[in-house]
Amino acid sequence: MTETPTPETLARRVQDGDLRLHQLDDEADAATAAAARRRLLADETDTELATVADYSFDAERATETAVENLIGGAQVPMGMVGPIRINDDDAETDGGAVSGQRYLPLATTEGALLASVNRGCAAIRRDGGATARVLQNAMTRAPVFRVADVGEAAAVAAWVREHTDALAETAESTTSHGELTSATPHVVGDSVFVRFAYDTKDAMGMNMATIATREVAARIEAETPAELVALSGNLCADKKPAAVNAVNGRGRTVSADVTLSRETVADVLNTTPEAIAEANTRKNLVGSAKAGSLGFNAHAANTIAAAFLATGQDIAQVVEGSNAITTADVRDDGDTLYASLSIASLEVGTVGGGTTLPTQAESLDVIGVRGGGDPAGSNADALAEIIATAALGGELSLLGALASSNLASAHEELGR
Ligand code: NAP
Repeated sequence: MTETPTPETLARRVQDGDLRLHQLDDEADAATAAAARRRLLADETDTELATVADYSFDAERATETAVENLIGGAQVPMGMVGPIRINDDDAETDGGAVSGQRYLPLATTEGALLASVNRGCAAIRRDGGATARVLQNAMTRAPVFRVADVGEAAAVAAWVREHTDALAETAESTTSHGELTSATPHVVGDSVFVRFAYDTKDAMGMNMATIATREVAARIEAETPAELVALSGNLCADKKPAAVNAVNGRGRTVSADVTLSRETVADVLNTTPEAIAEANTRKNLVGSAKAGSLGFNAHAANTIAAAFLATGQDIAQVVEGSNAITTADVRDDGDTLYASLSIASLEVGTVGGGTTLPTQAESLDVIGVRGGGDPAGSNADALAEIIATAALGGELSLLGALASSNLASAHEELGR
């Protein structure tokens, strides 16, 4: 019988040059391989890693789906906000993916964030809740092709436009859920980019879209003179600040709005509709314009990042999530404040990726959107609407704090 190698002997073999770090997974089960890497780190960096070793997910599964060279888990404190009241008025529910009241787990290391978001959610709840809608679901992949010259580029672009239905058939042969919804060619000299957009249902869809686009790109190569240079030509645009996402959207395009009474603004946010509207105009609109920002909001990325961490989204896509515009207007002769948050590119899923990890799946259970929705896509739509509403709460609270000048004292009081 072969003896199971110990973390110590495995670590020694790596140190002796007999094994590479990633080959540890071939020599032992994933948990032992992770222990061997921690042993090696303990020797070479004089660190204990006792808490990194204290994880509760399945090491084998994490190694297969989520990470290479596993050493353990990183823990981020998680709290909750809510209930978030959303599409809770009968007259307003038509068209929303979720209605009623939901709690949202948020993971963060920023003290005061959850208090702030929760305060905004309390204001929203008190005055009947927010209306939220997903307006588009369009995960994109944009390969770049080499052509001879501008003439050939124009011909390839025209071919793509004429054959979009055929390309959709090819794309959809790779997935039982995804649908190719558009193919938009862009020409730059002797480069042709085609921005393919997919309805990815409940998946964030980056793997799904990439696999489908690989087949489509092969067909374009086979039937036109274009030669594929890169499956991602950065016009997608994944995980980079890009106006194309802010304008055309990527993933879910989602808007949430609310009308608050003057009393709620005074009682919950300690200020007035006029002060919030002015802070929003001067800060989120004028200030962001002067800064050349793509994000015309106060801190939407804060709520989005914390929700992404809690629910197993791809955290680097917070970059796209920050493409959001907040508006605030005084209405009804000063009796109410109308506020909205529109996120152009919120890339979320309730299946696949990190959503299957245990704490992340539990968070999705709390929200009530774990796994595939009925109809497909409705769970991810609901998640997008809830995150947008919570982020609107965060916007209201921060604008309220700035308007009543107590931002520094809020952080001081909470000790950070
Ligand atoms: P995924 O982990 O590949 O899982 C998505 C798959 O789940 C779909 O392809 C679909 O299979 C299946 N599925 C089952 N029920 C579904 C439902 N109700 N709605 C939609 N799909 C359903 O996830 P993904 O969202 O496509 O990709 C997310 C992962 O991509 C993350 O881990 C992220 O970090 C990573 N990522 C990849 C790239 C890349 O370039 N490849 C870039 C950035 C991020 P069928 O297709 O067979 O129907």
